[in-house]
Amino acid sequence: MHEMSITQGIIDLCLEHAGGRRVRSVDVEIGELSSVVPESIEFCFEACCRDTALEGATLTIVRVPGTGQCHECGRETVLTELYGSCCHCGSSRVAIMTGEELRVREIEVDD
Ligand SMILES: [Zn+2]
Repeated sequence: MHEMSITQGIIDLCLEHAGGRRVRSVDVEIGELSSVVPESIEFCFEACCRDTALEGATLTIVRVPGTGQCHECGRETVLTELYGSCCHCGSSRVAIMTGEELRVREIEVDD
């Protein structure tokens, strides 16, 4: 399962960062253009955390909206889908700037 391996990756990163300390909370950024379903990550997180230093940790998912730069008119546009078009001129030649994120933004550990 896709989300399961992503969640495992997030947890491995946290465990490494925490170095044996208890992890209290984790903030993860997920871009709105990524194919990752936040609800699935939340679901997997709880299961994957069991019996690790992350057990009971709070997971906060931060959605990052999609934006792009249009090659045609050069303006910034909002993207609601991966291959969306420019909201100013309708061109589909848009370079994605944000919205594909999948990263751990912050980890809070016990002192
Ligand atoms: Zn444009």
